[in-house]
Amino acid sequence: METKNAFTLSIDWEDFGQLLGRDRSGILTKPLAITIDRQTDIMLEMLDETGKKATFFILGMLAQYRPDLVKKIAAEGHEIGLHGQYHIDMRTLTRDQIFQDLNDSKNLVTNIIGTQIYGYRAPYFSIDNSNLYIMEMLAELGFTYDSSIFPIKLKRYGIANFCKEDTLYNLPNGKEIVELPLTVVQLYGKNVPIAGGGYIRAFPGFFLHRMFRKLNRNQQNVMLYMHPYEFDTKRIDCSTNYPADIAYSKIKTHLINLRWNLFRNSIRHKLKSLLQQYEFITCIKKAEYVKSNSHGATVLGRS
Ligand SMILES: [Zn+2]
Repeated sequence: METKNAFTLSIDWEDFGQLLGRDRSGILTKPLAITIDRQTDIMLEMLDETGKKATFFILGMLAQYRPDLVKKIAAEGHEIGLHGQYHIDMRTLTRDQIFQDLNDSKNLVTNIIGTQIYGYRAPYFSIDNSNLYIMEMLAELGFTYDSSIFPIKLKRYGIANFCKEDTLYNLPNGKEIVELPLTVVQLYGKNVPIAGGGYIRAFPGFFLHRMFRKLNRNQQNVMLYMHPYEFDTKRIDCSTNYPADIAYSKIKTHLINLRWNLFRNSIRHKLKSLLQQYEFITCIKKAEYVKSNSHGATVLGRS
């Protein structure tokens, strides 16, 4: 299989307990070591067993407590990308706040691994037509590629009719950036973002294989995106991750736990079988390929 056709596996490396606790209490706390350790080890083991490399988009607020784990991921030859500092929807921040989030997290993670970072994924895929200037900021900060755009309009994010192919763009500031958009497939006349953990969890294995074979045959890009908790072998209970005085009600706790755990155990098996069956390369390798095989960059408009 050529590089053009190779799949990419991206992991948004964040801790569900730390995020939930912060969103609930407004306080940034240390993540529970046992959970993120276990989840990270499971991912690294699966990648090692299948001989594949992935891209980990590192969240700064987790990296600041666990630089050891970031180093461990990098030491196994996986690409380290950036998922920002505080995991806040970019559409709620000012330009200055966005720049600060990007710059702070970039400096933090770069200092941990001691090498440059080339790629970025926005929290909640929150780059859309309202804040495309973030692409210019990324290029100015030295990023080669972004992978934050859903090329369809979904309820909470996405850009309608955005190019679904990996593309090199010329930016209004005279710089350029490669966009590696999230994968969508046409299913019964609807666009379905099939490559995310939630969909991989919900669809049966044979069906996923058929979809990915189709994408592969059509030479469409396949960007899988997962989160550490999706690999966990243990049941996840959100109530154990923050102090009792800020806990959710019993019903809410039950609903969150249901959402985190439903069919989750099937993910490891399905993902492993995809890793075994297809060629996978890191996002930066894909971005470099796109850059060197582009015949002139497309212009990305300023919003
Ligand atoms: Zn995230």
